[in-house]
Amino acid sequence: MKLTFTDSPLDFAGLQRGDKDWIFDQQSSREAQAILFAGADLALDEHGEPMVVPARRTRMLPLKSPGLVFLGLEEGKPWFAGALEEGVAQAGPDFRISAMQAPPHLACIFARARSLLMWHGRRRFCSNCGGENTPSDGGTRLKCQSCEMEHFPRVDPSVIMLPWSGDKCVMGRQASWPEGLYATLAGFMEPGETIEEACARETMEEIHRPVISASYVTSQPWPFPSSLMIGLMAEIEPGELIPDDDLEDARWFTRDEVRALYEGEMGQKFPKHFSISRLLIERWLNGET
Ligand SMILES: [Zn+2]
Repeated sequence: MKLTFTDSPLDFAGLQRGDKDWIFDQQSSREAQAILFAGADLALDEHGEPMVVPARRTRMLPLKSPGLVFLGLEEGKPWFAGALEEGVAQAGPDFRISAMQAPPHLACIFARARSLLMWHGRRRFCSNCGGENTPSDGGTRLKCQSCEMEHFPRVDPSVIMLPWSGDKCVMGRQASWPEGLYATLAGFMEPGETIEEACARETMEEIHRPVISASYVTSQPWPFPSSLMIGLMAEIEPGELIPDDDLEDARWFTRDEVRALYEGEMGQKFPKHFSISRLLIERWLNGET
């Protein structure tokens, strides 16, 4: 099974979406659907299901600025998203739960919707001059009406890695995590560094071990709100771990210990296909580095 939020069925229609008339036609199409959000989570309909409605029907609904945002075409059928004003609909469970329960193609669509809507929620005004931003390209870009600066949806790259040496790996835990959970290390990339340098820096900061070599495995959009997780296996120098303040603990694990940890309840809570963390751990358990 593919990682959640990857293998999106959407064609973002980058060549067409700059045309206002084309966007209007898509929105008016009988086939156009809209997924609606209540705050950071999916809005629920009267049956307790995610509120997916014909896009044309949203004209009667109170949507937050900028209204409907174009997501893309799924086999030619347009998808839009909108954020309902407070109190209009019940919010679903935490978005992670909704995404885990959704069919994979819908989870991708929901994720793109969430990242774009949360970006709009925070970018009504220009970060350069404070002027008002106006959407274009179906809401996939904004332009300031005062200084004309263009603003694009942000993506925040993060490295996520499983450090290993010999036949052991290192996992850490944060105090806020469910009891007993240990997982991969992760951190945001900084300006002026490569993916490999970010991996080495974060590993040094978090557990105080030098990285000998890092190899890229795969990536995953992570809509909380708009990260791109870049997964790596990191061979590190063996030795004592000194966890930084973000971590409550970090430990060396054998394969048997990792298997014991992820069999049973922990494995249920964090399904294999949901996060890169599990994918990297499974990969290491299978002897691939
Ligand atoms: Zn401006």
